[in-house]
Amino acid sequence: MTDQNVVEKVIIIGSGPAGWTAAVYAARANLNPLVYEGQPTGGSEMIPGGQLMFTTEVENYPGFPDGIDGQKMMAAFRKQAERFDTRIVSANVTRVDLSKRPFTVWADDDSTAQAHALIVATGASANWLGLDSEHRFRVAGLGVTACATCDGAFPRYRGKPVAIIGGGDSAMEEATYMTKFANPVYVVHRRDQLRASKIMQERVLKNPKIKVIWDSVVSEVLGDNKNGVTGLRLKNVKSGQQSDVQVSGMFLALGHTPNTGFLDGQLQTTDKGYIALQDPYRTYTSVEGVFAVGDVADSVYRQAVTAAGMGCKGAIDAERWLAEHGID
Ligand code: NDP
Repeated sequence: MTDQNVVEKVIIIGSGPAGWTAAVYAARANLNPLVYEGQPTGGSEMIPGGQLMFTTEVENYPGFPDGIDGQKMMAAFRKQAERFDTRIVSANVTRVDLSKRPFTVWADDDSTAQAHALIVATGASANWLGLDSEHRFRVAGLGVTACATCDGAFPRYRGKPVAIIGGGDSAMEEATYMTKFANPVYVVHRRDQLRASKIMQERVLKNPKIKVIWDSVVSEVLGDNKNGVTGLRLKNVKSGQQSDVQVSGMFLALGHTPNTGFLDGQLQTTDKGYIALQDPYRTYTSVEGVFAVGDVADSVYRQAVTAAGMGCKGAIDAERWLAEHGID
C-alpha cells in the first residue's frame, strides 16, 4: 500500500472525526493524503473510527436531526474521504521520526512511509475501571458510558437513578448535567475528599438531586442483556463493606489519556499530556510541518464536531505550509 520510495505530501494519523475531516479537506486540495486509520489490537482504544465507535446514538452532531448511530457515522466519514481518493492504511503507527524532514512513520503492519507534513489526529481515550461487567454493558450500549453530554439525554436515564464515578471537575460537571434528566444522581468517589475545584464541588454538594457516596469503588456493574445496567455493587474502601445501589446507568469520569505514546516525546505537550498547540487558533505543533487536531490536542471540548472543525483547520494549515515550502 505504501511506497517507501515516495515522499507523501501529507500523512494523517488517526481516523476519528478529526482525521477523516482532515483527509477530506487535504484530498480536495489535491494533497493525495495517506491515512493511517489504526486497527484493533485487542483491548486498545485506538480502533479505526475512534471513540464514536463506542457510542450508540449521536444526537448532537449538526445535520442529523434524527440522530445517527456512531459506527454508521464514522463509516460515512470514511466513505466521504475515500470519495476524494484518500488512501487508507489499516495499521497502527507505532513510531515516528520528527527529527528531520521528510518525516518517517513506522506501522505495525511493517510498513514505513515518509511525508513532508504530518497531521496527528490520534484522539484521546477515556479511562475505564477495567471491570468485565463494565466492558460488557459499554460495548452493548446498555448503560455504561464515559460521556454524559453525549448520552445523558437518552430515555433510559429519564427520571431514573444514575451514578457518576469520579471526583474531578468532569464528574462534578456530568453530575450537575445529569440532574436535568435523572434523579437521584449518585457521585461515587474513592476518597473522602473531592479533587474538583471548590466552586464545582459546592454546586454538587448543594444540589438536592445529587448524593455523594464517599470512600467507595465499583466492584461490579449489575444488570442483564435485556434491561442493561440495573445497579452497581460498591465496596467501601475503609470498612470493606459491600452494598448494592440501584441505577440505570453508570457514567465514568475518570479522566482521559491522549494517544501520544507513539510520538515518544518528540512533540511538546501540555502539563496534562495533550499535544501543545503553538497558537490557540491554529494547529501548529512544536515541530514545523507537524499539525495536531482533535482530542489529542484538546482537553477542553472533546466533541465530535469540535474535532471535525480542528481536522479542517489542520488540513488547511498543512496545505498552506506545504505551499509556502514549494510543495504542492
Ligand atoms: P481528573 O483526573 O481531574 O479526575 C479524575 C477523577 O477520577 C479523580 O477524582 C480520580 O480519583 C478518579 N479516578 C481515577 N481513576 C479511578 C479509578 N480507577 N477508580 C476510581 N476513581 C478513579 O479528570 P477530569 O476529567 O475530571 O478533569 C481533567 C482536567 O480537566 C482537570 O484539570 C479538570 O480541572 C479539567 N476540567 C475542567 C472543567 C471545567 O473547568 N469546567 C470540566 C471538566 C474538566 P482521585 O481524586 O482519588 O485521584
